[in-house]
Amino acid sequence: MIISGVGVIVGLLVFAPAQSSSTAVAPHVRVEYRGLSSSQAQAIADTLSAAWTVYRDEFGFDMPGTVHVDAAIDRQASSRLYTDGNDRVYLTLPDASKLNRPEVSGVYHVYGLCHELGHVAMYRVLKKRDWMTTAAAEGWAHFAGSAVVDRVYALKGEKLWCDPYDYRKDGTARLDAQLASGDADDVTRGAELWRDAESVVGMKGFPALFAAWNTARVDLADPAPDLSASGARAFPGNAAGFEAWWTNAARLFVERRPASDVAARTADPASLTGRPLTVAGDDGKADGKKSIAGGGHARRFTAPGGGSWYLRNVLLFGSRYGSPQAPDETFEVSLCDEQMRPIATWEKPYSTFDRGDARWVKIEVTPTAVPPAFHVCFNFRPTGTRGVYVSFDASTRGNSQTAVPGKPGSPLDAGDWMIRVELDQPRSADALGGR
Ligand SMILES: [Zn+2]
Repeated sequence: MIISGVGVIVGLLVFAPAQSSSTAVAPHVRVEYRGLSSSQAQAIADTLSAAWTVYRDEFGFDMPGTVHVDAAIDRQASSRLYTDGNDRVYLTLPDASKLNRPEVSGVYHVYGLCHELGHVAMYRVLKKRDWMTTAAAEGWAHFAGSAVVDRVYALKGEKLWCDPYDYRKDGTARLDAQLASGDADDVTRGAELWRDAESVVGMKGFPALFAAWNTARVDLADPAPDLSASGARAFPGNAAGFEAWWTNAARLFVERRPASDVAARTADPASLTGRPLTVAGDDGKADGKKSIAGGGHARRFTAPGGGSWYLRNVLLFGSRYGSPQAPDETFEVSLCDEQMRPIATWEKPYSTFDRGDARWVKIEVTPTAVPPAFHVCFNFRPTGTRGVYVSFDASTRGNSQTAVPGKPGSPLDAGDWMIRVELDQPRSADALGGR
C-alpha cells in the first residue's frame, strides 16, 4: 500500500503543462486527467467532492472553493498521491489498472483521497507548524481520512468508486485493526491521539484548535507549553481536559528545535559604519529555480576575519508566484549557526517579493552579530499556488541546503542558492574611520 505517503510536496513544485488533458468535475472539485478512463476520473472527482462535504459540514473546516486535481498515467512513474496543502491534489500511477479496488490493485484510493484532503483541511488553517512531527501530521490525516471514509460511504455507498467495493473496511475499521494489532507505528498512534482529542474538543473543535495554534507564539526550542496554553484558551469550558490530552499527545506530536547557544547580540544601526560588505558566493547568473514545500532555503557563509560583524541585510535572487496581489501572509528569514540552530528569526511580508522575472530583493534585518560560520535560511511555506521561486547558481555547490531552522537538512545538489548577505562592523572597529 503506497497511498498514505507524504503530506506535502517535498522538492520541486512542478507545473506540468496539462497536455491534451480531459476534465471531470463534481461540486468543488475539478480533475484534469491524462491516460485514465472518464469513469475513473469521475470516481476521483466524486470521492473528493463527498469528502470535501464531510470536512466542511461535519468538521467545520474552511475548504477551498475548488480542489484542483492533476491525475496522470505515467509508465515510468511509481504510484504517488500528494497535496500542496492548499487546494491541489496530484496523482500519478504507472497503469490505469491501479485504479481498481485495493484487493486487486493494492492501492487504497478512496482512503488516500480522504487522507490528502485531511492534510488540506489542517494546513489551510495551521500554516505555522514547524514544531509538528510527522507522527502528528500523518496521524491527523490517518485519523481524519479514516473517519471521512466512513461518512463518505454513508453518503455515497459502494458505487462511488469506478470499481465498486465496500470501502468501509478502509476507514475506521482498518484504523481499529491496526491499533488492536499491538504493533502500531507512530503514525497510527498519532491517529489514535487525534481520535482521543475528538472526545475532548469535539469534531468541530479541530478548526478552532488549529487556528489557535496558528496564531500562538511558539518557542520552537520548547513548543509544548505554548501549544498547551493556546489550545486550552480555545476551549475555556474544558481547558483541563484539553491540557490532560495535550500532556499525553505532546510527547509524540512535538519536535523540539534547539536554539543556538550563540546569543542574539544586536546593535544600534547608528553604531555601525553604514558601509556594509557584501558577501556573495554566486556569479550573479541563475541556473535554475526551486520552491520547496516542507523545507527552507539555507546557505552557509563565513564572516571575514577581524572583529565583530553584524548581519545588516539579506539578499535573495527570486520572484513570487501565485495571485497578482501578494497574499496577506508572512515568511521567515533566520540567522542560524553552523549547525542550523536559529540565532534570530525575522518575519517579513510576502509582498516583499514581486511576481515576474527573478531579481535581487534586499531585506533589512535588525543588526545582529554573526558567528565565524553561519547560515541564512528562508522559510516560505509555499503551496502549489503561492510561494517564492529561489534561484540557484550551479557554478558552486556545497554551501546550500534544503533545511529549516533547528532541523538538519539535505544538501542542494544542483548548486548554491542565490542568497547574499551584507555585513557591517561597529564604527569603533573601522580603521579607516580615522582612529
Ligand atoms: Zn499524508
